[in-house]
Amino acid sequence: MVTRLTAVSGGGAKGPACFLLEAEGRRLLLDLGYGPQPGLWPDVSRLGKVDALLLSHAHQDHAGGLALLPRVGNPPLYVTEPLRHLVREHAIGGTLPLAGTTRILDLAVTTGRNGHAPGGVWLHIDVCGGVLYMGDFCCESLIYARDPPPRARAMIVDASYGEYDATLADCARALEDHVAGRDALLPVPPGGRAPELALHFARRGTVPAMDDAVRRATARLGAEHAQSALPAVREELARLARAAPPITGRGIMLAAAADGAGGEAGRLIREYGSTSSPEIVFTGYLPPGTPAERLTGSGRAKYARWNVHPRFADNAALARSVAPRFVVPAFGGPQDPARWREAFAPAEVVLSPVVELQ
Ligand SMILES: [Zn+2]
Repeated sequence: MVTRLTAVSGGGAKGPACFLLEAEGRRLLLDLGYGPQPGLWPDVSRLGKVDALLLSHAHQDHAGGLALLPRVGNPPLYVTEPLRHLVREHAIGGTLPLAGTTRILDLAVTTGRNGHAPGGVWLHIDVCGGVLYMGDFCCESLIYARDPPPRARAMIVDASYGEYDATLADCARALEDHVAGRDALLPVPPGGRAPELALHFARRGTVPAMDDAVRRATARLGAEHAQSALPAVREELARLARAAPPITGRGIMLAAAADGAGGEAGRLIREYGSTSSPEIVFTGYLPPGTPAERLTGSGRAKYARWNVHPRFADNAALARSVAPRFVVPAFGGPQDPARWREAFAPAEVVLSPVVELQ
């Protein structure tokens, strides 16, 4: 029986994550995202009925497409405990461990923490020598714990950054150039790099101001989301959440949403968008059609990436330990395919939306 992996959306380019794995008579959907730019849904019109949906983490471009579930037969959802709040009216199939093995529709599914988000995991399905879906993944996080994945015949890698290879230390230096000695607003995702940036600035001697969403997410990493955080920082993050001042327009300010379209960051941008201070610095993806794109395009805001995805060298190192036969780039793709073939050899770099594993 053929094992087939289909990139419904997110294969080779930024877009909502949605992959279909067909194996041993089962049809598993891996992530069902929306965005990151407004109005971008995966096309599920030809998918038919699926048997289960497994979510890698709570970010909207991976888990924001649940409104599409009735169009794929309302399958049961499998999520880690910190993602339970997403399920609401949908059927829950079971809980994924943050790190461990469980059975879904009689297939062994192994998960491990992804170094990227609270409750975030990679997924390894034990069919046909193993299919490994990395979802979003980061090797450099100061705060999120990461588990090494097992060997697999096919690996979907987080290629968000393509061939980019600057380190987090490089990022920190560039960011410092934009904010040193200034008042600065950083629009950030609370369940992502926000607590990490807070820790970075605090360790450099400036406790940043936080909006309620960032403070809550930072506190949780010292409490109910502690298993997703590195043990050494849990208490430090809990203290930081208590110590951070509220936002007053001065100092370093961390506020949601990351694209500046809503939340406290949206409000501050409406207030300060046409003034010259504070500095506004975006640190993540700049979705088309959002204030993040508009303000960086006009020069009002600066951009300094803070790594939350793997560098090219990280993905190449990961492939050496996973030893896949097939590497499927997701959320970005090769600018230089020859460099990819060389870095991932002897694996085949798959650039088509469908790969058959046997
Ligand atoms: Zn993510």
